[in-house]
Amino acid sequence: MKITVLSGGVGGARFLRGLRDVISPADQVTAIVNVGDDMWLTGLRIAPDLDSIMYTLAGENDEQRGWGRVGETERVSAELRAYGVGWPWFTLGDLDIGTHLTRTHLLGEGLPLSEVTTRITSRWNLGVRLIPATDDEVETHVIVDGGGSMHFQEWWTRHRASIAAQRFESVGVAASTPAPGVLEAIAAADVIIVAPSNPVVSIGPILAIPGIRDALAEAPGVVVGVSPIISGSVVRGMADACLTAIGVATAADAVALHYGARSRGGVLDAWLIDESDAACAPAIEAAGIRAHVVPLWMHDAESSAALGRDALAAAIG
Ligand code: GDP
Ligand code: CA
Repeated sequence: MKITVLSGGVGGARFLRGLRDVISPADQVTAIVNVGDDMWLTGLRIAPDLDSIMYTLAGENDEQRGWGRVGETERVSAELRAYGVGWPWFTLGDLDIGTHLTRTHLLGEGLPLSEVTTRITSRWNLGVRLIPATDDEVETHVIVDGGGSMHFQEWWTRHRASIAAQRFESVGVAASTPAPGVLEAIAAADVIIVAPSNPVVSIGPILAIPGIRDALAEAPGVVVGVSPIISGSVVRGMADACLTAIGVATAADAVALHYGARSRGGVLDAWLIDESDAACAPAIEAAGIRAHVVPLWMHDAESSAALGRDALAAAIG
């Protein structure tokens, strides 16, 4: 079976790890990964979502902290701070910088990000193929109250999403194209899964790349989404601030309606909601999306694997 997953960073990574645990050796999983958080910093190309997934699937992620490499040190970051360059509020770990140097070096050789990602990930035995949604530099910027704008990373990490956002802009998206393999992975998939990732700044920027929505609309596979919202809360992080900015309630049914039914011009055939949100099911069904009520918390390997299994089962009906 071919499974294609649209994914952001940490939430998507946890889901992919669980999914990998339940597939059979003949199955192929491809993750189409958001690049909207990517940026240039002190000469390095940083790709947070691609790296979160890579480290998590490689077993090299820091479970305690929730992001970055395990056993990380920050000596280089301290030097950059002393020189007064970079973003003092955005720490790059030393091991992580090794990844960024490699990526930047390969991009400098003229390779597109998708090829660079294939080379970087080949070091690890991930069991999942990672493709950036696009090879183009399409960065998410936040337009804040007062009209100013900043890179998403500055709004999220420096300001902890505390400045009211008016809207999000995918800078450069109109001229972008899906990376090689993206449309093919959507068209060839038996099951397409929208991971429990941030709908606004992880999945939204993927869907905004010209050609991707159309590919989903025409895909012969079943599109199953997993709610990142449980009991009206975002589980981990601050994604509610993003939903509020685009006028979507932080609720499992509101996010389903935001994505919309594929039969009515949206992207979903089925939507997984948590048992605590069972009361949302009728509203989702009324919107033309099959609702499946299952446990959505990924608190360990077992619950993450069960969610992977449930997502695949939902594709069957
Ligand atoms: P980011 O790019 O690192 O922000 O990560 P993603 O966009 O992939 O995922 C972030 C989202 O994952 C959060 O907004 C949460 O709503 C969601 N999330 C985190 N943990 C869980 C979980 O255990 N279950 C579910 N259903 N969603 C989760
Ligand atoms: Ca992200």
